[in-house]
Amino acid sequence: MSIALEHIDPNSVELSHAEIKRYSRHLIMPEVGLGGQKKLKAASVLLVGTGGLGSPLAMYLAAAGVGRIGLVDYDIVDASNLQRQVVHGSSTVGKLKVESARDRILDLNPDITVETYNDLFTSANALDIAKNYDIIIDGTDNFPTRYLVNDVCVLLGKPNVYGSIFRFEGQASVFWAKHGPCYRCLFPEPPPPGLVPSCAEGGVFGVLPGTVGTIQATEAIKLIVGIGEPLVGRLLLYDALAMTIDEVKLRKNPNCLVCSPNPKITQLIDYEEFCGMPMHDHQDEVSAGAGWDMTVKELKAKMENSGGVKNFRLIDVREPHEWEIARIPGAELIPLGTLAAHMNELDSAEEIVLQCKTGGRSMRALELLRGAGFRKLKNLKGGITAWAREIDPSVPQY
Ligand SMILES: [Zn+2]
Repeated sequence: MSIALEHIDPNSVELSHAEIKRYSRHLIMPEVGLGGQKKLKAASVLLVGTGGLGSPLAMYLAAAGVGRIGLVDYDIVDASNLQRQVVHGSSTVGKLKVESARDRILDLNPDITVETYNDLFTSANALDIAKNYDIIIDGTDNFPTRYLVNDVCVLLGKPNVYGSIFRFEGQASVFWAKHGPCYRCLFPEPPPPGLVPSCAEGGVFGVLPGTVGTIQATEAIKLIVGIGEPLVGRLLLYDALAMTIDEVKLRKNPNCLVCSPNPKITQLIDYEEFCGMPMHDHQDEVSAGAGWDMTVKELKAKMENSGGVKNFRLIDVREPHEWEIARIPGAELIPLGTLAAHMNELDSAEEIVLQCKTGGRSMRALELLRGAGFRKLKNLKGGITAWAREIDPSVPQY
């Protein structure tokens, strides 16, 4: 049974002749028609994140004629984004993502309104921003933001069009507490920090967010127009390698902390603390704590003083296929997953510098070794990415 956003009034807007021409392929379908197209024009959608999922979302919602689109992002466009973040382009590398995305979708459809928020979506601003939109869509794919968006939507009574991606697999659902379960009904607690790698660590098949983001856009448009079977109470599981879509029925948790009749969570919390991880995947900002960090400049000086990697060991905990792309001279490869098995090859009397791509995995390696009694440890801040950026530009960044 279809579910519609009842408060959207198609009679609050008119379509110009130019708009009637633009949307003619919608208008001639009775399921959408003039009424549905006017609902789209009267509707507003907030997109949190303009990355892999946010790209197809922004473009298809704009193309479909959603009248007001809000874009939240704090980042700038990087060349490594363009393998999947197709709303941006080579000409906008270095620009603010919200401005790059806004310019692209206004070029696609100048008849819509785009509002930009060049900021992290946090407990401090989320309710204020989200209250002005009919539907909230999380395109950031990190746990703190996922719980924040969920709680915001439950507290405001709005639908949360959910999507997530990892490597070759994606998920999508519509969490709307009024009509079905919320994200917390499914996952009351986040996974332990470090258990689920981010896309920056694990990689992502570039076309995958295109598929999942397009499913999210489809669900948002269906909710606005009020047609079809929404993904409320259903979790879609997409496997790009097997090319299968499975579906899991979801139930509301009668004891859900946020959407049950007697919720324990009645206002936003500190989601980074709750999840034990940051709201972004800029892992080079990760610090192992006072005294445990080493900068790439300090490593360079140390190597110059000792004539290379001597009197200490530089352990690269990345994967062999990353080692093939780039490495720091003198480093030894021990992938994080095999570190425990190789611990007997390390001497706790020796100084050990741990290094990965951007500093996240090497920090976990440091914690593992610290837990085993090692003390003369350093985590290379920013990893080989910082090394390539600040010390040796001949090392490729990936
Ligand atoms: Zn719930």
